[in-house]
Amino acid sequence: MSDSLPSPQEQLKFLKQIQQILHSGSFSSTYKFALLMSLCRLAIEQGQDNGDRLTLDYLDIAEKFIDLYWKQTLPFHFNENEPFLLHQNNGKQAGIVSLIHSAQQRFKSIALARRDYTYWSQLKKKVADTVKKMPVTYLQNIKGQNIQFLYCLEDSQKQLVLLPQVMYCLRQFSEIIEELCQKRWIDFIRLKKQNLIVLNGLPDLDEFMFAPNRSQLGQVASFLIDLQKCQCFYCGKSLKNNKYAVDHFIPWSLYPADTGHNFVLADDKCNSQKSNYLASEQFLNQWLERNHLHDQLITHELSKLGFLTDIQRSHRVADWAYGQAKENGYLLWNLI
Ligand SMILES: [Zn+2]
Repeated sequence: MSDSLPSPQEQLKFLKQIQQILHSGSFSSTYKFALLMSLCRLAIEQGQDNGDRLTLDYLDIAEKFIDLYWKQTLPFHFNENEPFLLHQNNGKQAGIVSLIHSAQQRFKSIALARRDYTYWSQLKKKVADTVKKMPVTYLQNIKGQNIQFLYCLEDSQKQLVLLPQVMYCLRQFSEIIEELCQKRWIDFIRLKKQNLIVLNGLPDLDEFMFAPNRSQLGQVASFLIDLQKCQCFYCGKSLKNNKYAVDHFIPWSLYPADTGHNFVLADDKCNSQKSNYLASEQFLNQWLERNHLHDQLITHELSKLGFLTDIQRSHRVADWAYGQAKENGYLLWNLI
């Protein structure tokens, strides 16, 4: 039998507890932000809208960590200063950042690292060990007191088991939690004295740390232009003279991670109109259909570029997003 859904009061309490952790918890590194964001994303990808427990594999959490930290571990360029590595820890550099940094010495992109199966598995395992030892142990600690409202440490030796109703609340509040975490994470980086030397009022930390990685979108576009027969995914008009862009079908603002099946190509007009909105149900059906029809091709071509391409994962994210839209009355975008 399923556990029941949390009452409105319980949901509010959950959100307050998240806020409490973020405000009062002691943070010696940025791992806790990464953990909370990873839990939200996995609850969306692997969970459902019910009050059940959710069991998460530490390797899946590790994969989310690598996704989050990869971009932030690249050299940061600021004015005329030498490019440097952001400090993510109070003492010496955070272990996971060092692991990713050495992966970056070997592989030019996360795509290439992911394609080296043996290397990637070892990297995930090492990151998973650190995740388990550090943020999982300390996330729920406020001034020495352990408030175990997300998971019980005793149950979470081999896999991380979210307590009943936690999955539901993470799915319900993921946009808020992501935003809180991102803001706190940026503040942490800004205030770190090793970063302060150079980070003097820098404007683009947000973009550098959390915006989608655009370096491979050119290649995605050349694949999609063939797949869509040179037509805009939304209005069907032909795409001309580079006046088009790769669009996240489920907007980045709702779910800030790249999955291969989520990309569509849209002309500039549709792309800017759609902006951060979800597209109407008609487009949802069109997108689902496209993915089923071309699943193999999309998987083959986009995983070559290093994107996670798992049709089920993408469609679960969409289920979640449209469920949220329905429940909360989000405006859906349509052609005018
Ligand atoms: Zn269009």
